[in-house]
Amino acid sequence: MPPIRILPADVAGKIAAGEVVERPASVVKELIENAIDAGATRVDVEVEDGGRARISVADDGVGISSGDLGMLFTQHSTSKLARVEDLAAVRTLGFRGEALYSMGAVAEVAVVSRPRGSAEGAALRCRGGRLEAVRPEAAPEGTRVEVRRLFYNVPARRKFLRSGPVEFDHVRDTVLRFAFGHPRLGLRFVRDGQVEFALPPDETLQTRLASAMEKGGDPWIPFRIETNLGNLEGSLGPPSAARTTTRGLYLFVNGRFVRDRILFRAVAEGYREFLVSGRHAAAVVSLRVPPESIDVNVHPAKAEIRFARPGPIFDWIAASVRETLSHSLRAPGLGPSRTDGNGIRAPQGSVVEQSLSRFFGAEAPPEPALPDLISGRRVFQLHRKYLIEEVADGIQIIDQHALHERVMLEELKRSYGSADLPRQRLLVQPSLEVTDEEASCLEEYRRVLESAGFGFETFGPRAVRIVAVPALLSRDRPETLLRDFLDLLSEGSGRRIGTDEILERLACRSAVRFGDSLPDGQIEALLQRREILDNPHVCAHGRPVAIRLTLDELERFFKRR
Ligand code: ADP
Ligand code: MG
Repeated sequence: MPPIRILPADVAGKIAAGEVVERPASVVKELIENAIDAGATRVDVEVEDGGRARISVADDGVGISSGDLGMLFTQHSTSKLARVEDLAAVRTLGFRGEALYSMGAVAEVAVVSRPRGSAEGAALRCRGGRLEAVRPEAAPEGTRVEVRRLFYNVPARRKFLRSGPVEFDHVRDTVLRFAFGHPRLGLRFVRDGQVEFALPPDETLQTRLASAMEKGGDPWIPFRIETNLGNLEGSLGPPSAARTTTRGLYLFVNGRFVRDRILFRAVAEGYREFLVSGRHAAAVVSLRVPPESIDVNVHPAKAEIRFARPGPIFDWIAASVRETLSHSLRAPGLGPSRTDGNGIRAPQGSVVEQSLSRFFGAEAPPEPALPDLISGRRVFQLHRKYLIEEVADGIQIIDQHALHERVMLEELKRSYGSADLPRQRLLVQPSLEVTDEEASCLEEYRRVLESAGFGFETFGPRAVRIVAVPALLSRDRPETLLRDFLDLLSEGSGRRIGTDEILERLACRSAVRFGDSLPDGQIEALLQRREILDNPHVCAHGRPVAIRLTLDELERFFKRR
């Protein structure tokens, strides 16, 4: 082995930069953090070619004195931390003193700053670790940092940068995270000279979210909960907004965007009974806790954190999410979501709203038991969509498809894989043309599909003969069914489709449709099968199955008491 040496400063700088500066988006992140730490109320972010050519971040913060300017590009130079004890309660986003040092090592960086209340500004440049002298320069109050030609001197890293548009997407993601983590911060974002968005300062998380959320679709559910653990607020996406990855879930702790496993699991736990497995919630959840109760110094980019007491935090978040969802999903658009501007609005303060909000609001028990059925009860179908049912303490309106889907799903789950699974062998065995990819997909999932009741044989390179289908599914043409499954299986492209997801699709496919007319006998049979459900409240996609109006509610509504 060669003798041990101390690395030359420029090599050390390039190595350190690798931990903090990975791509344009990480530069933008560090610079916006510095602006926020400097007390900025407005930040202007500009990028050219996705940040590959130029990144500029300007703020109206406290500024940097010309004396301090010379220290900026030295490793571990920070004004935010002086003693090791300070680490126990970090209140700033930065504290390691590595960002500017790293950028200076791998790019051309120019800083111009004028401290608040000072008459004159100063500028400093650093290129590939080499500093120029500080010189006076006219500038507005605040600081502007410009980073050009990122990794111009580290070809190995430059090579790994993606195209301008791809890098731009990462930068925009980063800027949006600050928009939600710091709703009071005014943010202007410019791409190649064109304004992408401009968000005014002093917004609340809710106003900012309301303007950012897509209009149309099921409404999101805003919430805000305060306990002695801290403050939790945000907006929960409806089950229909769920994704196949966790990318739609934005988590913030004290304004810091994090990808923390405990928090992910807590939110997922809260959503559990509202989402099919394999789907991930879309939501924005912002947690504020005392800085002493977390450790942010466990990751170079501070994307992970450690909680002093993770248990209570986990339980609190999971319960808050679950309760918020169950209050509002029981009656779409009438729960807490009516405040978000996207939901269905009942006339303000009207009797209807008061009554319904009492009914669906916070006092309602989270999971009402199935109502007792009364003998000789009446049930009928309306509009070929709903079943109206007389129950002991009132009436119940059932979504016929949702209920049937739930029934199918639970029956499928019970009989899945067992020999007595009802399957129907086909006399006429239809065939189906498939692509190579689809054929290998079918082979890959053969076991699951067979356990669910399908039978098929391949003949020739690109043809499949269907020999059996789940008996439950006999309403659709077998080819249509199998085709539908092929779509589901290949839609996951690379993602493993779970058994649950396949059963859910089967359930959905086999259930009566919204709009099918149902003879009395079928209604009766459906309600009987409902009796043994584990979870009669939500369908396979997490939508509610029924709403119930009690006689009490009705009497109050009609002002009989
Ligand atoms: P850190 O943020 O971890 O302290 P940086 O390398 O990001 O390390 O910044 C070094 C120091 O430069 C900061 O501690 C701060 O004093 C100063 N600084 C950087 N950016 C700004 C800014 N936009 N406004 C005021 N001071 C700044
Ligand atoms: Mg910093």
